[in-house]
Parts: sequence; C-alpha cells; structure tokens
Amino acid sequence: MPPLPNSIEARDIAFHLHPYTNARRHEEIGPIVMAKGDGVYVEDVDGKRYIEAMAGLWSVAVGFSEKRLVEAASRQMAELPYYHAFTHKTHAPVVDLAEKLIQLAPVPMSKVHFTNSGSEANDLIVKLLRYRANGMGEPHRKKIISRLRGYHGVTLASASLTGLPNNHRSFDLPMEGILHTTCPHHWREAHEGESEEAFATRCADDLEAMIAAEGPETIAAFIAEPLMGAGGVVVPPATYWEKVQAVLRRHDILLVADEVICGFGRTGEMFGSTYYDMKPDIMTVSKALSSSYLPISAVLVNERVYGPIADESAKIGTFGHGFTTSGHPVAAAVALENLKIIEERDLVANARERGVRLQAGLRTLSDHPLVGEVRGVGLIAGVELVTDKKARIAVQPPGALAARAFGLIQERGVISRAIGDTLAFCPPLIIDDSQIDTIVETVRLGLDELAGEMG
Ligand code: PLP
Repeated sequence: MPPLPNSIEARDIAFHLHPYTNARRHEEIGPIVMAKGDGVYVEDVDGKRYIEAMAGLWSVAVGFSEKRLVEAASRQMAELPYYHAFTHKTHAPVVDLAEKLIQLAPVPMSKVHFTNSGSEANDLIVKLLRYRANGMGEPHRKKIISRLRGYHGVTLASASLTGLPNNHRSFDLPMEGILHTTCPHHWREAHEGESEEAFATRCADDLEAMIAAEGPETIAAFIAEPLMGAGGVVVPPATYWEKVQAVLRRHDILLVADEVICGFGRTGEMFGSTYYDMKPDIMTVSKALSSSYLPISAVLVNERVYGPIADESAKIGTFGHGFTTSGHPVAAAVALENLKIIEERDLVANARERGVRLQAGLRTLSDHPLVGEVRGVGLIAGVELVTDKKARIAVQPPGALAARAFGLIQERGVISRAIGDTLAFCPPLIIDDSQIDTIVETVRLGLDELAGEMG
C-alpha cells in the first residue's frame, strides 16, 4: 500500500537519501518508522515492538531507554553545551573521558584523540601514520595492511581500509597504499581438512608474504577488528592472533585494533584485544562508548606512536587536524555515564554469561537445513545460511536467502541484520535469558517458514 500523502513515510521517500539502502527500492517500499525505545526493545509508529537484536548498529550497550544518559546529557547541556579543544582549550568531560579510556585500555596507552564516528577515527589513523612516518624521517613507511571483509568505515580512507566490494565499487576506492590480506574465515576459506591452527598459520604466512613483497620498511601498520563484525561476524581461527602478532613484531609493524564493535564488553571481556590477547599500539573505539546516544569516537595511541607525532607538531607549529565537535562535552558526558553504567552493572560479565546462552541457543540451529555455520563469541553471533549444505552455497543472487530470512524474522518481532547470506546478532549488553530465548526461537520459526516457502 502506498504511504498516505504527507505521512512520515511519504516525506521520507520524498526527501531522505538513506545510508546503506537501495535508493530506488526505498522509493517503492518506503521505511519502517521507529518511534520509541524501551530496554532491548524498539517500537515502530504502528505500535509493533521488536527485540533490537543488533543493538541498532552493534552499538546500544545499555538499551534504548537509559534515563541516566538522558540526565547526563541534560546536565551537561545546561552547564556547558559546547566547547572545543583547539588551541589549548579543554573542559572537564573530555579530560575525564580521556583519563577513563587510558585507565580502561588493555595495554599502556599514552593519549586519546576524540572524533565523532568510527569512520573518522580510522580515517585519522591513516593521517596519523603518515604524519608519524614523516616526523620520523621514514616517508616511505606509509602503507597499511587491512583484511578482506574487514570493516573500518566509509570515509575515503576508512572505506579504503574496509575490505568489502560495496564500499569500493563506484567510489573509485581503495586509495593507493592500502592493501588487503586474507580474510580469516575458516569455514569459508580453509582447504578441505585444514585445521583452524593450520589455516591460522596460512593467514600469517600470507601476511608475511605480502609484507616481504611490498618491502617491510614500507609498511606502517596492520589494522584489524579483533573479531570481524560487519564483514559477516568472522571469528578468527585458533592461534590466529598469536601468529599474526609474531609476524608484525618481526617486521616492526604497528598493530591497530579497531575496537568499534568489540570495545566495552561485546565479547565478554572489556575489549576484543583482551579476549584475544592482542597488544595494539593504536585503538579505535566508538559505538558502545556512548551506546550511540550521541556521536563520539576516539583514537588511543601509545607513547611510541604519540612521541613522533608530538615532535612533528612542534616542528610544524601545530597538529593540523581536528573537528569542530571533537570531544564534544555533551557526548563526552554521556559516554562517561555510559561507561559508569557498564561498570556498575557489570555488563561485561552479563555479556559473557548471556553470551554463553546466545551461542548455545543459536548452535541448536546448526542442524537446520538452511544453516551452514553458526559462529560468534559473547553477545555477537552470525548464522550463515545455505541451500546446499555440502557445497556451502546459497541460492543466487548472493544475499537473497538471508534477506528473506531477515524479513520473516523481523515480521515476527526480532531485528537482526543480513550481511551477504549471514544473519548477524549483536543485542544490547543488558539482555536477559528469556529475551535471548525469544531471539533464538524466533530465528528458528523464521527459518522454518523460509524452508517451507522454498518447498
Ligand atoms: N569500525 C568498525 C569495526 C565498525 O563496525 C564500524 C561501523 O560499523 C566502523 C568502524 C565505522 O563506524 P561509523 O559507522 O561510526 O563511521
């Protein structure tokens, strides 16, 4: 049914170009208009309630109705609604948050720089690595290695780091100097009979071969999510991080951990780096930092990274980078309160404990005729769908199967995300056991309905 004239739906179609949406299809089908949030639930304007099993975009740790964040924002708005951090200015919320992040960091970090989105943070890392290389008198050391299916954002540089075709196609990306190595997706990429450990060795060998081919002295850093999210929830194979970090150490290449999804509890540890025993030199955080109630992200750097950057800024006379809203006081105040809640309610432990139930529940679907693989850690999971289990392939076109499953599951009141033919789940960290059971049961019913449709 076409939307009523002048309705939100009609005006959305008329005026709004959506992110990550097929624009022409949107003109035909229009939007679902969300109106309210309540814990792990959101409600649309027609009063239909959904479990937000993706926490929005992998981000709303404390749920959709946390009054303390509203109050923190309101207090800060009344006190000092805006100030910046350019040219030696500062304010309490940004200092408190920087200090808090340094305290929480899984390895010794030196400084925090604030940005507004994960993309901006990763974009800045590309700039920082150039600035540092020039500062150290190593102008050749600027290449960055990322991974196929890694996700790091959508600005020109961060989309280049991203290893997904839809972020490059027709944008004339990736830009020069950014390389993509093997995706550590054991179930998809391993050879017949290749163990996780053997596949991890192959991934590390591929990385080392790329470094050798490019010249180790030309590589500044390796960037990766501890566990891939938007590339389809790809869990690294056993021993992967140990072997990859050994390669990086051998060639004196910095490790950048993109903690935008994993950070602040998602894996059942405070950081994905803790979970996988990673020792990053640089970290990106966002999303669960403020539960996305307000936009904020940050780049943490260790002394080894900070030193040459500080020296270069002294040489030039300024560090010529910064956004009007970098370290926005209201966003910083909300982030601080959000981190306080995560700690006070021990939501990291909740993620670990409820995560066991989510992972076990979804794994009971492994025998379903449409399920190829179930994978995940803590409160992040992927269910990869297939129509031919043996050949591990789904019906064409790619993504059609998961898109249909996603639709059927959403109609039943659970919002997931279809990534290729993988259904992703990443619920708020406050979720309880019965809500997890509802997610699992709804997925089962949706997949049964889909199997029935397909005969
Ligand atoms: N890095 C990772 C790991 C992400 O998952 C995302 C977004 O999903 C980004 C970076 C980009 O963040 P933003 O969408 O805030 O630009």
